[in-house]
Amino acid sequence: MREVKDCKRARNPAFPVATIRVAFDKARPSTWTRTKMRQPPLIARTLPTLNKALTRLRARQSTLALVPTMGALHDGHISLIRLARRRARRVAVSIFVNPTQFAPHEDLASYPRTWKADLARLVDEGVDLVWNPDVATMYAEGFATRVTVEGPATCGLEDRFRPHFFGGVATVVAKLFTQIRPDFAVFGEKDYQQLKVVTRMARDLDLGVKVIGAPVVRERDGLAMSSRNVYLSPVERETATVLHRTLKATAASMRAGTAFATCLAAGAETITRAGFALDYLEARHADTLAPLAKLDDGPVRLLVAAKIGTTRLIDNIKV
Ligand code: AMP
Repeated sequence: MREVKDCKRARNPAFPVATIRVAFDKARPSTWTRTKMRQPPLIARTLPTLNKALTRLRARQSTLALVPTMGALHDGHISLIRLARRRARRVAVSIFVNPTQFAPHEDLASYPRTWKADLARLVDEGVDLVWNPDVATMYAEGFATRVTVEGPATCGLEDRFRPHFFGGVATVVAKLFTQIRPDFAVFGEKDYQQLKVVTRMARDLDLGVKVIGAPVVRERDGLAMSSRNVYLSPVERETATVLHRTLKATAASMRAGTAFATCLAAGAETITRAGFALDYLEARHADTLAPLAKLDDGPVRLLVAAKIGTTRLIDNIKV
């Protein structure tokens, strides 16, 4: 795979352009599988290249969906791409580890970067465009603008522990939406507060992008997939399953009518006893993220953030 500087697709013999291949499926000898070979994605690393690629992809008024990521792709990201594919004719994925959403003490330098493996997955998914700018392209010398977000961004969940975070996210997402001008953008419910913040911002600033939420994808034992799970030691990885189990048990006792405060105290105790440093376990209104005290107060979302060793994990479920 090579970068397509002039926006022509790579003439890679592994990806014959627009051919249909009929392949014999050895695993099921009685069947024939019709495999459509997809074109490799256009890869853009500079704004002029991105604009050329977008002109090509937008020909014939094709709809475009964007999936913003920081790379180190896993099945959670892939589910977003597949949802994007169902909503739009063209799919763009951005891979950019955004420095403005990391505090100085956080893991910007060590954040996993797995470009080759990511690109292989994007090829398999038939993604049309990969936007992979470097930091200097996104934040040119003298960059001095930061988007300030309120409402769901200041509701006292992630913002209490990562006060820099949503300003950085909002700034980079506003830039991505402006650069790519997608019709849709798909974000995971895994980062539930972020999904609400971005949805609000897109509406408030008339960015012309419909933000779509995608369900959390989990490992078989319930741990929410995350690029940061690779930081977990084997023992921490085992302990990490406590989070989802506790969310489920807490939600069940809420639904059974136990007072929210009692459910949350029991859940917090379980998480802490397992060895986590708990940042929060809270029941919030699923749309506004306002605190609520009983089931009747609205659709309820249960959200948790906790640290095991040096790794901070977040998760949430519907109650
Ligand atoms: P990230 O690369 O961690 O910034 O995530 C990029 C997008 O993927 C965000 O919208 C995340 O919410 C979403 N995402 C990350 N992990 C998952 C998951 N396990 N299930 C669903 N979406 C996810």
